[in-house]
Amino acid sequence: MLKVVKFGGSSLADAKQFEKVKNIVNADPARKVVVVSAAGKRFSDDHKITDLLYLCHAHIKYGVSADSIFSMISERYLEIKKDLNLSVNIDPILAEIKDNLSSGANQDYVVSRGEYLSAILMADFLGYRFVDASEWVTFRFDGEIDLETSYNKLSSIPIDGGIVIPGFYGVLPDGAIKIMSRGGSDITGALAAAAYEADVYENWTDVPGVLMADPRIVKDPLPLKSITYTELRELSYMGASVLHESAVYPVKDKNIPLNIRDTNAPEKEGTMILSECPDDDDDNFITGITGRKDFTIITIAKTGLTGAVGYLRIITEAFENHSVSIECVPNGIDTVSVVISSKIKSKALYSVIGEIEKKLKPDSVNLTDKISIIAVIGRKMAFRPGTSGKLFAALGQNEINIRMISQGPDERNIIVGVDNSDYEKTIKVLYDKFIKEV
Ligand code: ASP
Repeated sequence: MLKVVKFGGSSLADAKQFEKVKNIVNADPARKVVVVSAAGKRFSDDHKITDLLYLCHAHIKYGVSADSIFSMISERYLEIKKDLNLSVNIDPILAEIKDNLSSGANQDYVVSRGEYLSAILMADFLGYRFVDASEWVTFRFDGEIDLETSYNKLSSIPIDGGIVIPGFYGVLPDGAIKIMSRGGSDITGALAAAAYEADVYENWTDVPGVLMADPRIVKDPLPLKSITYTELRELSYMGASVLHESAVYPVKDKNIPLNIRDTNAPEKEGTMILSECPDDDDDNFITGITGRKDFTIITIAKTGLTGAVGYLRIITEAFENHSVSIECVPNGIDTVSVVISSKIKSKALYSVIGEIEKKLKPDSVNLTDKISIIAVIGRKMAFRPGTSGKLFAALGQNEINIRMISQGPDERNIIVGVDNSDYEKTIKVLYDKFIKEV
């Protein structure tokens, strides 16, 4: 049994958090591959080390001294070392980073040093071997990760008593350091799990799992016991985010379960992300309630539209011709609505409408702005009569005006559009109805 365990920035913020990591790792002998982020915030006004490193690089670039910011970084890691009584000497490492920084090292190298330092300290603390990400995470020159090369390289590195790997970066074919996008240590963890064909990829963070609604809107939303990769994708697409989106693919491809856990509450089982969810979890058929604000609905009406052939192609082609991406297309009798993000520049939108008017000659085209889209995501909703009835009744009783409805035939989600001003209220009402009252 092998578990690859990744710890996010808040799990490495100070010596106390390092201790929690060690207890978690030692509690299960399968936890032999550890991936770490740079130290995160200790309290809400604190700075993430990665942000400070970006700042250092920007200072040097514009000819301003970065000394005081670099001291904040050094002090943070030196304090962790001192508090944990570690023997590893990081002074020469810090001095080398500072030297490279002052002599104009590139941004990716500078920013990657947070993870590097975290991993050096954590390896010493756990008594595991340090394995640099630059030894195996390989990018192609086009910036994509070369999965085959990376997997081959890592799988040939022995795990022995345990290894610690810094997340977030790798190397280009010429050996230069390249970082991933923000939150990228999640990807490193997933790559390591895939390379070693681990039994589980545990992603330890500071939330008790994938929550069923946004905690800024719903008080103490429940975490999900299990969720499929598809549902996770739907939840994160609509706004909920616990994990870097690209972290899913390496483990999904190899069918490795992904477990989101809370470093501050290790007794909780967190959320298991799987290809398919076990049937015993069926009571929780609603996976989550999520949404996003600021959409525009374009409603096209024409008598006889529904019976006509090819009208949807004309409409969608007009959007495609002006590179406007469509969120969903709910339709009625003789009307089609197209929902797009309000961020689309009005110029592109008016060209789209112009093309539709020319080719389709509709009776009317109306725009409705400031719409929020809210999705109730679940599984097997098709087999549960009354789900949408319950949803509409709840919104009606709470005087929430539904501006649009869309439900796919696979019934993995029911989407409603409401005014932006009703966004939070709608999520609360639906959470109470579908999750609290079950
Ligand atoms: N330290 C990096 C960031 O802040 C990467 C990570 O934490 O995953 O984005």
